[in-house]
Amino acid sequence: MNAINKRVLITGIVQGVGFRPTVYGYAQKHGMKGWVLNSAHGVEIEVYGDASQVNAFLQELRENPPLKAHVDDFQTWEVPVHAYTIFEIIESQDDQTVFLPVSPDLDICPDCLKELFDPSDRRYRYPFINCTNCGPRFSIVKSIPYDRSNTSMAGFPLCPDCAREYQDPSDRRFHAQPIACPVCGPQVWLQTKNKPISVGEEAIQVTRQMLADGKILALKGLGGFHLACDAQNTGTVSELRLRKRRSGKPFALMSWNLKIIREYARISPEEENLLTSTQKPIVVFNLTEKGKELAKIVSPDQDTLGFMLPYTPLHYLLLEKRDNYPEVLVMTSGNLSEEPIVTENDEALEKLGDIADAFLLHNRPIETRIDDSVVTMVAGRSYFIRRARGHAPSPLQLPFQAAPTLAAGTHLKNTFALSRDRYAFVSHHIGDLENQETLAAYTKAIDHYQQIFRIQPQLIAADLHPDYLATRYAQGRAERDQLPLVQVQHHHAHISACLADNGWKSDDPVIGLAFDGTGYGTDGAIWGGEVLLTNYSGFERRFHLEYVPLPGGDVSIRKPARLALAYLHKFGLLEQAETLAPFRYLDEIERQVLVHQVDTGFNTSFHSSMGRLFDAVAALIGLYQEINYEAQNAIALESIVDPNELLAYDFFIEGEQILLKPLFEQILADLQNNLSQALISAKFHNGVLKLALDVCQRLRDETGLNTVAISGGVWQNKRLIKNIIPALEKAGFSPLWHHQVPTNDGGVALGQLMTALFQTGMFKE
Ligand code: ZN
Ligand code: ZN
Ligand code: FE
Repeated sequence: MNAINKRVLITGIVQGVGFRPTVYGYAQKHGMKGWVLNSAHGVEIEVYGDASQVNAFLQELRENPPLKAHVDDFQTWEVPVHAYTIFEIIESQDDQTVFLPVSPDLDICPDCLKELFDPSDRRYRYPFINCTNCGPRFSIVKSIPYDRSNTSMAGFPLCPDCAREYQDPSDRRFHAQPIACPVCGPQVWLQTKNKPISVGEEAIQVTRQMLADGKILALKGLGGFHLACDAQNTGTVSELRLRKRRSGKPFALMSWNLKIIREYARISPEEENLLTSTQKPIVVFNLTEKGKELAKIVSPDQDTLGFMLPYTPLHYLLLEKRDNYPEVLVMTSGNLSEEPIVTENDEALEKLGDIADAFLLHNRPIETRIDDSVVTMVAGRSYFIRRARGHAPSPLQLPFQAAPTLAAGTHLKNTFALSRDRYAFVSHHIGDLENQETLAAYTKAIDHYQQIFRIQPQLIAADLHPDYLATRYAQGRAERDQLPLVQVQHHHAHISACLADNGWKSDDPVIGLAFDGTGYGTDGAIWGGEVLLTNYSGFERRFHLEYVPLPGGDVSIRKPARLALAYLHKFGLLEQAETLAPFRYLDEIERQVLVHQVDTGFNTSFHSSMGRLFDAVAALIGLYQEINYEAQNAIALESIVDPNELLAYDFFIEGEQILLKPLFEQILADLQNNLSQALISAKFHNGVLKLALDVCQRLRDETGLNTVAISGGVWQNKRLIKNIIPALEKAGFSPLWHHQVPTNDGGVALGQLMTALFQTGMFKE
């Protein structure tokens, strides 16, 4: 025997995913002696054995790591021979100077799913079954190291059977921190606002019956509450809308399996992979005829639906397919409009008390509220709308070693970002920072991330907008901790985020297409239709939509009729619009006030927003004159596009300004000729695409730059993003778009982080 000893260090997401039992199993199989332990660096192993067996062991581990592990690095090196006599798992070691990634929450694994429906298993139909390969993680972590006593399972002492499994290295539940069973673990119960109904299996059966009968249920889940009902029941869904005061916004859906979803959605192989992936996101699909019928009920503005598959054992029990049981459930976030998702039982009874007919509760506390992730496919790769459960808090790799930094993020769809070592921790979706509840969730989450990843920021980044709560928070932190504060212009941050998202390493400039809703400009105006020459450290604004008045600010954003009339009045076209929808929608007084505001500038700011342009065009051709949620009109405009129309409206450029009067003249002419909404919408979308290509070509002619970074909320429009990529490629450009963080404001924190690091030089190779 040619005996050797080898050390192994495996880094990445390697704890809480069943790594040590897997190593133990392979060690037994290949006759290895030695040890494995979780350290603050990752998983560390030393094996002693015959050289060929050691290599076979390493090869198997390298090729077949645990399913849910994410290995960043796998290093091995030889050490002096030490003849171990057994293989053992050594207790965790904690080194305060380094950090360990915390696993995101994991969907139920195939083994646990089998046991869940196996009548002979002791966890048969137990809604909290889990093992080292699956179950709650981030949502239950209070602090590190990741041990049961530091999770919300601390209050559930193990029964003898669970304790035995927990201690047995050959068991699938060896050191599974959330291990539980019907004897010792959390329980479910059903109640109305004030009165208990039933517990355990009976509670699940009654819940199913209520759902089938058209009732609305509040379900406590993994990262928060869902409101659930039968998606095909028109009456119930409109009742839910009414109670939730959410008129048009689409509801997310959940079905028992892929086969059912296929009846409603046209699913490509890549989309199937996404839908069934371990992160189990909500995936946005194009629809079959049956799906279009369903969309009329649950998603009236859109020609798409968002579906997800069950990801917890409780979901499986609730959706289990039987005759005459609803095959599609609405599963929308359990919150009051614009507030964060509810996580606590008392809070749910209070806040959702007038929405839900009954509550399916459980007694496992949720430490971190976390929404479902929402993803779609663009050019064969995932494209995030919302990055949350299943993804956060997995870090993104940075191309350098960064100083510990906090980027506060922006106002809408807030996320924040923290860096340390070669990682950026982009937080889960926090929400719109418009109320105390969301602000409290935001500051709590920042503290939590700092604590579990041991990050003490030395640098703070924020938006330029002086009144954003995130900016104020950042200013407060910078002052309190005496740290440098870098304020980053919103659209510069969008493009920096896109660069980082694509692993862009250098400070070389690119062309940036920041088509967006709202961002505070360096001149105090509201920007949003911006073409930049930019690198991480700085930017030049090269083209932008011409400034138009925004009379009354937010009032006009909620009432796109006002936006449309403001454009028309500015361009002297108002008389031609008297028969059109926005004109008729506003009464004479409101019109007069609006005209006065535009003329005098009273209570009126200026904007160059592409998002507002979409809202206004939609209103002008007769879509919504008043909206209930952000981007409602732009979504409606996109959904009616006639895909066969190839004509495009022309934009004209004068100096830095992209002129809009000719656009409105062309639309008015088409309206006079009774051109359909579908054709006008198509010509408008095509026009914006042509404009995007045109500005890129102008900047390439001038600078020789060939790389185009695409970011901003307007690019959530799939008609735009799916067409601009091939158009740019065909013209010889290299387009960069988002893959890991959203193109909307959920990505901005990452860009702030990068720009702050480059501006201060607080990083090294
Ligand atoms: Zn499992
Ligand atoms: Zn137990
Ligand atoms: Fe934005």
